[in-house]
Amino acid sequence: MDGDTPASRHRPVAWITHPDCRLHDMGADHPESPRRLANIEDRLLLSGLGDFLQRYDAPRAPVADLTRVHDAGHVHRILNADATAGEIEIDPDTLMNAHSQDAAMRAAGAGLLAVDLVMQEKAGLAFCAVRPPGHHAERLKAMGFCFFNNVAVAAGYALASGLKRVAILDFDLHYGNGTADIFALDPRVLLCSTYQHPLYPNWAGIPEAANLIDVPLAPGAGSAEFRAAVRAQWLPAMATFEPEMILVSAGFDAHQRDPLGDLRLTTDDYRWIGSVIREFAEAHCHGRVVATLEGGYDIDALAVSVEAFLRAFVHDGYTTA
Ligand SMILES: [Zn+2]
Repeated sequence: MDGDTPASRHRPVAWITHPDCRLHDMGADHPESPRRLANIEDRLLLSGLGDFLQRYDAPRAPVADLTRVHDAGHVHRILNADATAGEIEIDPDTLMNAHSQDAAMRAAGAGLLAVDLVMQEKAGLAFCAVRPPGHHAERLKAMGFCFFNNVAVAAGYALASGLKRVAILDFDLHYGNGTADIFALDPRVLLCSTYQHPLYPNWAGIPEAANLIDVPLAPGAGSAEFRAAVRAQWLPAMATFEPEMILVSAGFDAHQRDPLGDLRLTTDDYRWIGSVIREFAEAHCHGRVVATLEGGYDIDALAVSVEAFLRAFVHDGYTTA
């Protein structure tokens, strides 16, 4: 061990999830399925990586933490909907069953625990393996498989806990319109995104929002374009902004095998971006990284991509294959 290694490098990786997140089910044909989490867990077991994670149960998010970033009417509509007699359509892509509210509360609550763990130096990276995902959920509405904006809830909590600046990095295939809706023009938040364009939600941008670093990628773009975007546009903006914590909307649907898009990222790109984020965090913000699962719909590509991302943060005794 060398003396220059930041102490944060040797903090554990926290893995936050909850069984409720697997009970939310939008039907056998829906790509955002419980099998996504099951397959990730299987991969962690098979690879041995799971032995190096500290596991936590996701708590339920208190309503006050949801209404920090969402309109109270939206929160109450979601929590008071009654799906006990059958699925309810929240938007054309987003269905609610009898377990969806519990799952959504756990998915948002995971991020609150994650913020606490990294602030208390109990973890370097805290990864929230949750569903439903969050980054399409706007201040006023659910959409695109998302009920509450999990990463925004966590960022809002971190800011309310005393941090002055946080960066949110979103490398999902799709633009995180919900996160942009909530934090555009908020000087406490820098939101850096790469995403396929054109593609759902067909984000048009907010030209005057200097805190949104949007890098659209054309269909067919892959490792070279993604890495160039991160190096040329994300990292300079992050260095200027000096965040005190990094939050990640960790979507893995830009993988070349994903059925929902046409970006061509490889599994190794997820290890690369994990390393970039870890190195930046160690140099600039005490190694504090909170990541929450967004998309990823080829379940095998998802599982190995999550593993690759985690490997960038796991050190103590774990040797990579
Ligand atoms: Zn996505």
